Amino acid sequence: MRLKQLESLLEDVEPFREPNNELEQYPTGAHLAACVLAEAHARGDVEGRVVADLGVGGGVLAIASLLAGARRVVGVDVDPGALELCRDNCDAFEPALRPTLRLGLGRDPSSLGGPPLRADTVVMNPPFGTRARGVDVRFLRCALGVARTAVYSLHKSSTRAYLERHALHVLRAASATVLAELRYELPRVYAHHRKDVVTIEVDLWRFEP
Ligand code: SAH
Repeated sequence: MRLKQLESLLEDVEPFREPNNELEQYPTGAHLAACVLAEAHARGDVEGRVVADLGVGGGVLAIASLLAGARRVVGVDVDPGALELCRDNCDAFEPALRPTLRLGLGRDPSSLGGPPLRADTVVMNPPFGTRARGVDVRFLRCALGVARTAVYSLHKSSTRAYLERHALHVLRAASATVLAELRYELPRVYAHHRKDVVTIEVDLWRFEP
């Protein structure tokens, strides 16, 4: 599937109805989600693969993975409302898309809780750690335990040097590569945002466990 075609299908995915600020519920826009999946697809990490989306939210990355040919997708989130939204978003496709959804992560997202989960590839847009310090690297720790082949993850560009050191030396990732520098456009969804759109520079990373 072409990038533009994927992006236009993803435009229909509904964002959070009542975003929870503490959980950093910021949706990934259609363009950004399509870029993430295009990079992962080009490296052979999506088609025919089992993909996990940690912090699945409304499911845009999970849906993009299924549309891009993933064999199976598992989405995990701590918020039951997010899983419900994800289910509704998947049902809106024709034929309906069927990821496996499960409640998980939670207070310490470095471990999933519940039965173990293995996937070929993890794609995620984790909380950046602006509310709960360190939550981004805890998601990454979990992702490196889930993925057999690769983790694709978005992180604030300002954390690049720290994240590289942490991934390689603390989490013992085999590799940590920035694939693209992207712009994350946050719509004004929280009262503490003064501008209509806030742009954040983010890196798309590929880690190998
Ligand atoms: N993947 C979606 C949502 C990104 S927002 C998208 O790309 O649009 C981050 C998501 O992580 C939210 O759905 C939020 O509920 C979830 N989340 C935040 N903290 C979490 C935690 N500790 N455990 C599990 N999920 C968490």
